[in-house]
Amino acid sequence: MLGQMMTTPLLISAILRHAEAFHGDAEIVSRSVEGPVHRYTYAEMAGRAKQVANALAGLGLAPGDRVGTLAWNGYRHVELYYGVSGAGMVCHTINPRLFQDQIEFIIRDAGDKVLFADLTFVPILESLAETLRGLKAVVILTDRAHMPASDKLDLICYEELIGAAPASFDWPEIDENTASGLCYTSGTSGAPKGVLYSHRSSVLHAMSSAMPDVLGISARDTICPVVPMFHVNAWGIPYSALITGAKLVLPGAKLDGASLHELFETEGVTVTAGVPTVWMGLLDWIDAHGAHFTTLRQAVIGGSAPAPALITRFGDKGVTVRQAWGMTETSPIGLTCTLKPRHDALPEPERLALQAKQGRPVFGMEFRIEGPDGQEVPRDGTSCGAMLVRGPWVAASYFNAEPGAAHQGGWFDTGDVVTMDADGYVQIVDRTKDVVKSGGEWISSIELENIAQAHPAIQEAAVVARPDPKWSERPVLVVQLRPGATLTRGEMQAFYADKTSKWSIPDDVVIVDALPHTATGKLLKMKIRDMVRERFAE
Ligand code: ADP
Repeated sequence: MLGQMMTTPLLISAILRHAEAFHGDAEIVSRSVEGPVHRYTYAEMAGRAKQVANALAGLGLAPGDRVGTLAWNGYRHVELYYGVSGAGMVCHTINPRLFQDQIEFIIRDAGDKVLFADLTFVPILESLAETLRGLKAVVILTDRAHMPASDKLDLICYEELIGAAPASFDWPEIDENTASGLCYTSGTSGAPKGVLYSHRSSVLHAMSSAMPDVLGISARDTICPVVPMFHVNAWGIPYSALITGAKLVLPGAKLDGASLHELFETEGVTVTAGVPTVWMGLLDWIDAHGAHFTTLRQAVIGGSAPAPALITRFGDKGVTVRQAWGMTETSPIGLTCTLKPRHDALPEPERLALQAKQGRPVFGMEFRIEGPDGQEVPRDGTSCGAMLVRGPWVAASYFNAEPGAAHQGGWFDTGDVVTMDADGYVQIVDRTKDVVKSGGEWISSIELENIAQAHPAIQEAAVVARPDPKWSERPVLVVQLRPGATLTRGEMQAFYADKTSKWSIPDDVVIVDALPHTATGKLLKMKIRDMVRERFAE
């Protein structure tokens, strides 16, 4: 027997209609690419999103067409999120930090019909002129006064385009499984793969992510996603902020410590979210200038594991770190780390160790930790297995790939090797491909990196495997030192001596000027392994 409740579709336009009607005066504050800080309300944004929808129809676009964006976190990008998806088209956020050939591949693979780009990215557009000439329009997210001249491309001015479009638009009532957004994985191994989100998956993810133990945001908060809107939809914050009515603060292109601190303080930011590298820059600036946070209460950190030292540094400044785990394929949030009441009684080091875990499952996501024999491993916090997930916001397929290619037997393999304890707290031991396999033992590169990160001479650390005739692989520490600092192999090994098992201590330390990162701020292990190979071949 079926239930007798309404089947009103879960649509992104419903989020906008809700925000416009009930949080119409909530603010969106953006540091614009042109320079000044821009502010307006959700109601004003909703009006301009309708103009975007009308302008797209005027350009000849139809439902299902892909619309690319190359843009920072800013109000015009938010207008595109709602205008494009609301009208039944697909908002394809492109990561400008990818290599040029990857960007070109992505635009072609997605079949983008129109591309909207911030001024910053005009040089990228010009270098892709040949590909872009096949599009219906290339629109620059600025006004006439700031329009660049280009002899390679016909560029349209965003403000003129939408200014000429009517501000009334009836959002169509479409099937909730209609595609709404497209985001490519960062391609740490192989070509980037497209993940095609639906209205249903995006709305469910956003509703779930606002919950108290997930991002924990309300109409009383001011949230600043430092994580870019081209990186898995800024973890859904442009949607969850509107669902809750929180004030939204967008940092634009300026992600350095001084700029972020100033924006947080002047706008009263209470919650922020981003990857670990950005926070190291912010905290270093704060320490160097004796500055403080007066409103910030919570920093959500994900994308890679925050070192325990980062959690303590924020804690010392009155900010709680909430770790989150996710992937492009999981929309992204799957795990968040908040403690249960009984953990308050734990001694500080144990509490910190728990906070350093990736977290426990968010309702809606199911997890299966599978050993090499295909059986579930015990939930004892020590047995490791491959982490498989499923749920309404997990990819079933990749764009332009065979149906079902993203999963086996109904589960998606995350590529993470993890432990889960009795309460469901998951700890990533390593990426399947990064774990160091030494003499039949698995050594976690992440554990060794976290230890190194607490060494005063070390700015950033990576651990990779080096082939070894006797043990098959041995760990090597690769570091960028703080300015003026030194570190010898003996000092490094002495530092590890009481912090890990004897056989896990890295054999060597390699000092480099800077560690390479992926477009989403993760250590680029493939390249670091090459650096180590070259160093020892010298
Ligand atoms: P994305 O572009 O969404 O970051 P990737 O597929 O490149 O997607 O990265 C997802 C991977 O990032 C996860 O499988 C995991 O290994 C890593 N990751 C994400 N969050 C965390 C976290 N909090 N701690 C450790 N690793 C994480």
